[in-house]
Amino acid sequence: MSASPSTLPPDLSQVVSCVSGYDPKALPVDKVQDVIRRFVRPVRVAERVDLRAALGRVLAEDVIAPMDVPAHNNSGMDGYALRSDALGTDGAATLRIAGTGLAGHEFSGDVPAGSCLRIMTGAVLPAGCDTVVPQEFCRVDGELVHVPPGVLKRGDNARMRGEDLRAGQPALLAGKLLRPADIGLIASLGQAEVMVWRRLRVAFLSSGDELRSIGQPLSEGCVYDSNRYTLWAMLQRLGCDVLDLGVVRDDPALLEAALRHACENADAVITSGGVSVGEADHLRSVMAALGDVAFWRIAMRPGRPMAFGSIASHDQRAVLFGLPGNPVAVMVTFYAFVRDALLHMMGAAAKPLLLLPVAAQTALRKRPGRTEYQRAVLTPLPDQPGRYCARTTGDQGSGILRSMSEAAGFIVLRHEQGSVQAGETVEFLPFEGLV
Ligand code: AMP
Ligand code: MG
Repeated sequence: MSASPSTLPPDLSQVVSCVSGYDPKALPVDKVQDVIRRFVRPVRVAERVDLRAALGRVLAEDVIAPMDVPAHNNSGMDGYALRSDALGTDGAATLRIAGTGLAGHEFSGDVPAGSCLRIMTGAVLPAGCDTVVPQEFCRVDGELVHVPPGVLKRGDNARMRGEDLRAGQPALLAGKLLRPADIGLIASLGQAEVMVWRRLRVAFLSSGDELRSIGQPLSEGCVYDSNRYTLWAMLQRLGCDVLDLGVVRDDPALLEAALRHACENADAVITSGGVSVGEADHLRSVMAALGDVAFWRIAMRPGRPMAFGSIASHDQRAVLFGLPGNPVAVMVTFYAFVRDALLHMMGAAAKPLLLLPVAAQTALRKRPGRTEYQRAVLTPLPDQPGRYCARTTGDQGSGILRSMSEAAGFIVLRHEQGSVQAGETVEFLPFEGLV
């Protein structure tokens, strides 16, 4: 099953006509992002899943709090619950202990004026009590508790009913990619299941006659197909259902069969390799014959050639990303373009990537007119607490996958930016947290 009719993308030519200064031979990164964003559509099929199975999935409907959370006023500390009007102007008081309130056990007695309740964290605050004095502040003398002056003010250490969530209030909005805190938040509402969008199905294949699969001998001039594994891993992180088509030989019939199978069984299809101009292979012509595909030269480094559009087979259409073959380029184009598009198709609310300002540790050579993604590590600046400087991992060749593995993230040098001096602020995209 492929994308349902409502998710069919519009005509690519229609989309690019809305983008000013569209030039497929020299496309800035932000224009590529713009075209892709206008083209892809969310797959709107929801399913109900058990709360634990919802981690990493995208919420399909708002989660509304059915009750106040917390449901009762309760204590935030182990100590003594009191009425704040019992405190003197200096905040001191001497109170008689009326009983004990334990978490999960209601104290049924009364806390009259001049008294307090020995109370544990999470225990319900008795009516009239609005403040808790931590036990370590008090001096206890038999039945009496002495609260010293100046340690307490009204409302301290009291957790009020509904302060986390009010009944009827949306606790989480549709489009949220569920993280551990969200799973806990839903549990705090007593909800065992949740509506999420169905997983996105993504098919991928590697192309290039020099590619060998793991387990095969590596003959002269051949390389192991590593993109199959980086793509698999990046898609896995995004929570997609992956359809791994492996290496497809540079044979038009085989390529066509693979692409047809991919678009009949997936919402999106990703290929790597074989899309540069002057490629000796057939992938470009097969893509063009199967759909509505543009071949771009993107003003970026690495990752210049890329194909994008949709392909169809037997009325089933899928979004197509034809990524470059170089192992670093495939990852950079995935993070720059594919990730956001797939998240959008998954129904996730748009969320810009977090770019951190850091200092360049060394000068960086850069020509204006293209976006660069330099692989870099971070070091804390010794004289400036909380600030970091970034230095590249060395050789930035787009075939050097080690540069990605060693890096903590990308230094992103913007399109119009020129060379950077040591110490200048640059933008850093951390890999940590990048799904
Ligand atoms: P291409 O984009 O097909 O011109 O490939 C560019 C470079 O990336 C060539 O050196 C290819 O050998 C290499 N390459 C292409 N596909 C893969 C792959 N799946 N795994 C590892 N290297 C690849
Ligand atoms: Mg090739």
